[in-house]
Amino acid sequence: MKVEIEKLTKKYGRKTALKDASIIFPEGKITIILGPSGSGKTTILRLIAGLLYPTSGEVLFDNTIVTDNPANKRNVAMVFQNYPLFPHMTVVENLRFPLESKKKGKLFRVNVYSEEEIEKKVDDISSLLHIEEHREKYPSQLSGGEKQRVAIGRELVREPDVFLFDEPLSNVDARLRYEMRMWIRKLHELLNKTMIYVTHDQSEAMALGDMIVLLEDGKIVQVGSPDELYYDPNSKFVAQFIGNYPMNFLSFIVEKNKCKLTVDMKEVLSEKVFKYIRSKGIEKGTLGFRAEIIREFDPRKPIDKDMFKLECKVEDVEKVLDQQILTLNYLGEQIFYVTKTRKRFSKKDSIAIIVRSDDIYIFDEKHRRV
Ligand code: ADP
Ligand code: MG
Repeated sequence: MKVEIEKLTKKYGRKTALKDASIIFPEGKITIILGPSGSGKTTILRLIAGLLYPTSGEVLFDNTIVTDNPANKRNVAMVFQNYPLFPHMTVVENLRFPLESKKKGKLFRVNVYSEEEIEKKVDDISSLLHIEEHREKYPSQLSGGEKQRVAIGRELVREPDVFLFDEPLSNVDARLRYEMRMWIRKLHELLNKTMIYVTHDQSEAMALGDMIVLLEDGKIVQVGSPDELYYDPNSKFVAQFIGNYPMNFLSFIVEKNKCKLTVDMKEVLSEKVFKYIRSKGIEKGTLGFRAEIIREFDPRKPIDKDMFKLECKVEDVEKVLDQQILTLNYLGEQIFYVTKTRKRFSKKDSIAIIVRSDDIYIFDEKHRRV
């Protein structure tokens, strides 16, 4: 089922949690809603689920407006970060619960299942989730990952048209998270259902999504594939939010036909970059470059006109397995540099770094990419 939100706005009193958001969630794809805490992610999901009604705008399922339909009239499953399992019921009882309720016609739609159908569905789901050996256990006897699988299973048995995940892995420990991500991808391949997955974790978003919708303060700031967001951010906010390290920024000013770094009024930028800045007609702005593309200057190798060099001091070194993450100081400006070199750095070392023109991003005074 295709899900669409159109000019959706939600206000809580005077607080606008979501402003004029329009998104099409394509049928059968995983779409990620990514953004910092408080940016409006849960609000979008609750509006789609029918747990919340918008201040203005519409929600459409397969081109039909469902904005005013209550949650039990929408065939949508929602999985949260905490696993709302019934503690006094075993895994099997938890899985049966939504079907039993249907049988009795109490909750959800009027579908009624026979005992045989219920047993078959619960068996299928247990094997799909690899929780057969835990069937008779109570939630307190399960690990975080297992509990989350049962919680997903309980939604699955209802055969929803759309899955909404609200940060489902934030309570799962780091080692298990990779396994659970793989498992969610598998589930998606198998079911081929529309999935909308909310997270504040950009690495999770990059790993799972066909398409990412990035939110800032209730507004959609960019929509694109993981590669588009990483290689082609449209603002400083996106450039900082996406990537394992925030992008490095140095401000510049154009003066007397020259482009200089604001910190030292040095003309380091190549002709090519300068021409580009001129062609955009900006006088002031920020240049950005990623920690991963920086190289250390090697005195035996001359630098060419398409590179610039900065003499920095090492402020901090973090070693993570084969990588060193260096925090450098360039005249008071902080620069992150990630390297796999075997060479060991220590605090206060001097280091010259090189950045290539092609790896530079230019942002104007309003932080928009130009
Ligand atoms: P996220 O899921 O991205 O962390 P939310 O959608 O939960 O963000 O919230 C968006 C904004 O709306 C936040 O500033 C939050 O404080 C506010 N908000 C959410 N729910 C309510 C509510 N029931 N009443 C008032 N403000 C709320
Ligand atoms: Mg939330």
